[in-house]
Amino acid sequence: MQVSWKKCFASVESMPENPLLTINFFIPFDRIAVADVEPGIRQLIAKSQTAIDSIAAHDSPRTFENTMLALEKATENLDYAMAVVRHLESVNTSPELRAAWNAVEPEASEFYSRIPLNEGLWNKLKAYAETSDAKLLRGAKLRFLTRTLDSFRRHGAELDPAGKKRLAEMDVELTKLTTKFSENVLDATNAWELVITDESKLAGLPPSAMAAARQSAAAKKVEGWRFTLQAPSYVPVMTYLDDREIRHNMWQAFATRAAKGDHDNRPLILRILELRKEKAKLLGFADFADFVLHDRMAHKGDRAMAFVEDLKTKTDKFFAIENAALEAFAGRKLEPWDVGYYAEKQRRALYDFDEEQLRPYFPAERVVDGMFQIVQRLYGIRVKRKEAVPVWHPDVRVYEVRDSQDSLVGAFYADWFPRETKRDGAWMEAFITGVDAPGGFEPHSGCICGNLTPPIGDKPALLTHREVETIFHEFGHLLHHVLSRVEVRSLAGTAVAWDFVELPSQIMENWCWERDALDLFARHYQTGEPIPEDLFRKMVRARTYRAANGQMRQLGFGFVDLKLHREYDPARDGDVVQYARNILQQFTPAPLPADYAMIAGFTHLFASPVAYAAGYYSYKWAEVLDADAFTRFRDEGIFSPAVGGAFRDNILARGDSEDPAELYRRFMGRDPDPEALLVRSGLVS
Ligand SMILES: [Zn+2]
Repeated sequence: MQVSWKKCFASVESMPENPLLTINFFIPFDRIAVADVEPGIRQLIAKSQTAIDSIAAHDSPRTFENTMLALEKATENLDYAMAVVRHLESVNTSPELRAAWNAVEPEASEFYSRIPLNEGLWNKLKAYAETSDAKLLRGAKLRFLTRTLDSFRRHGAELDPAGKKRLAEMDVELTKLTTKFSENVLDATNAWELVITDESKLAGLPPSAMAAARQSAAAKKVEGWRFTLQAPSYVPVMTYLDDREIRHNMWQAFATRAAKGDHDNRPLILRILELRKEKAKLLGFADFADFVLHDRMAHKGDRAMAFVEDLKTKTDKFFAIENAALEAFAGRKLEPWDVGYYAEKQRRALYDFDEEQLRPYFPAERVVDGMFQIVQRLYGIRVKRKEAVPVWHPDVRVYEVRDSQDSLVGAFYADWFPRETKRDGAWMEAFITGVDAPGGFEPHSGCICGNLTPPIGDKPALLTHREVETIFHEFGHLLHHVLSRVEVRSLAGTAVAWDFVELPSQIMENWCWERDALDLFARHYQTGEPIPEDLFRKMVRARTYRAANGQMRQLGFGFVDLKLHREYDPARDGDVVQYARNILQQFTPAPLPADYAMIAGFTHLFASPVAYAAGYYSYKWAEVLDADAFTRFRDEGIFSPAVGGAFRDNILARGDSEDPAELYRRFMGRDPDPEALLVRSGLVS
């Protein structure tokens, strides 16, 4: 077949360029098509690979520019395109887009995971580290070098061929086992159901839970009401159902999920723990906790353990008081399946507080404007709507962030309401991370997304207090990103240690509990009245209800996680489920039955190769940081530009350019102190 070269040339020329290939500050969302995804990402992977190979092949003397900067630049376009496509798949998916994403995502992951195993590249990095140029590095550039070498080593760069092979085998086996673990949890959960046909047995359940159970039964074409172990079905039963036997039965089923029969996770847990230990040892660490925490704020397993133990000691007394009070209220000895039920009755008796009463005071638009006012006072930045920018859905708004000199520091997209094409939850995504170079800085861009109560009819969107906290939380992550001023891109913004990344977000939630801040934005959508004082007081009092129980639960999970990844030895400690049960008993308000097998369904630890393993403590760790750091605002003024400036300069602007513990000390003048969290939770005498 003869093809005219002219025709080919003409068709190439008229074809619009794939918009994923070029970085645009305002992303051309109106021009990105599903058909761009696979060719675009593949082209960028190839381009990045060529760039990496050329670093490895180059024989000229090593410099920061031709080694470190070149390495960072090598994946810049790919990083951007992956962020954009991942984002579109999250907010505006379609079967075609999902298929395209599922096709390229593993290819990109594989490409990224191969980088540290590229021997030629590793040799160039080591060669650069030995130069006199490298010995003179300071600040972020020095940290970039150290972190890069470290990360390569932790990914096996320094192992001999046999070691590399063993590491790869272990990673494959861990992926398989953890996938199987989560399948077992899902299958075991789905394998259980309870159908009730006698309506009198449902006394206590709220109408919404009754209706859901009815619908579930109808969907399965059975008579009556159907209950399952999925949270929306399980939680209302444990909280409201008067029938004690049904509660017991259902609790028991949940507590022994995936611990026997066809879906037994017990052998998987043992093998996962064994492989994690072997992997840590192969890479030169004492145990898996030390391996995981090496680049986190806690650094070492024993530090994380001491943190959990200290908080437990400080909570124990209040835990006992709460439990005695609940038993007195219930007038009986409580079993685990009674606790949630009586706690709800006690909560209502004590507080008579319905969160729905707050909604009229939280119209979404006003909340967002109030939040912008708060950060203007604190950080001297102005947030303004930007019109006529391409977006992926008409609900989406675009904003610019400018500093006090009116320079553009960043822009962001906000997409708050649910759609069928959008995944659930709330999150922040970074698109462009600007660098703070000697000649000036580049602005950042990102987005914040959520699934908040949408407007109904001509009423504005009226939010719950928890939803207001969510907006503040995600905006906190966004500020960490757009206020970043770091000279190395990969150390900028939210690219910080896992147990530090929630500080900027969680600290923002504190403003949602302060009267003076609430008065800026919490106004009745019809009358403009602030929240009445007695409603505000009820809301604050209800916040600390059974706080010791909430805290002990989280600490128990953190404790058992660290014990399993640091100390557990099957030969000495016996059955792993029993071992975990005995630990968790110390954190549980009622006696646990002998077959209690919570860890067989503990997906946080075992549903992926790392996930929260050895890191569950970070939930509490981050709370300690945000409560403690907020005390400076509390003491010196919640709108104080001086404290705001210090927080911006020492935390928000700094990314991962220094050890987070050092950044924290610079802001607070000392190490974190758990006292503020205990005070906030009402756990002080
Ligand atoms: Zn967060």
